[in-house]
Amino acid sequence: MNLELTPEDQKRIRMNVMKVHDLLQEKHGRLVRDGKKGPLDELVFTILAQNTTPLHSQEAFERLKKKFRNWEGLMAAPVGEISSAIQKGGLNHTKALRIRRILGRIYRDRKELSLDFLREMEEAQALKYLLSLKGIGVKTASHVLLYSLNRPVMPIDTHVERVSKRLGWVWNHAPLEAVQEVIHCVAPRYLVLSLHSQLMKHGRVTCKVKNPRCPRCVIRACCDFYKKKVGICT
Ligand code: SF4
Repeated sequence: MNLELTPEDQKRIRMNVMKVHDLLQEKHGRLVRDGKKGPLDELVFTILAQNTTPLHSQEAFERLKKKFRNWEGLMAAPVGEISSAIQKGGLNHTKALRIRRILGRIYRDRKELSLDFLREMEEAQALKYLLSLKGIGVKTASHVLLYSLNRPVMPIDTHVERVSKRLGWVWNHAPLEAVQEVIHCVAPRYLVLSLHSQLMKHGRVTCKVKNPRCPRCVIRACCDFYKKKVGICT
């Protein structure tokens, strides 16, 4: 997309992004996920996380790891067996089928079950490979790049999208692609991982879809939605 942000817009949004990040970090502390996963584990974990809570996806991932000694074991297992191990996470049959298909594809491509080869690739190339896996979209691919390969690619989850729009970083009806492009354009690369974690937590606990808790929100002074609500001119 060609967003055509003026240098003034970029500067204004960048300052807002950094302020929001710092205030959220002050409130939540540093949010660093324990036990960084390798890219294949992260991919499976992110598939399991689709349409469910973090708690259920974590449980489903641990159950898979316990039931199958390795990904080769899972690839050879009947779909029903995989599906029953991840029952609690929802959409279990679809996810089981998807994971097994993807493992099969990686094995055919690489003769081993590993995505470590992505570490050697340019960001765009690694993204292209991930998107070529059936059932993997930009959000899931971005998670793998950000969380397991340390590439500054912002996954636009529903919480990130909602909070970014309410803050006024992008217009209300902006497509996900535009939200990602604005954040990539203004956020310092070193901040993307932490910013993503902070926005996710803020969206879950404070800036909820219905009834956002604006009066208690630590970033309300940075928020267009709040300013409009209480009648402050921006
Ligand atoms: S002030 Fe309200 S709408 Fe704005 S970020 Fe905070 S909770 Fe969300």
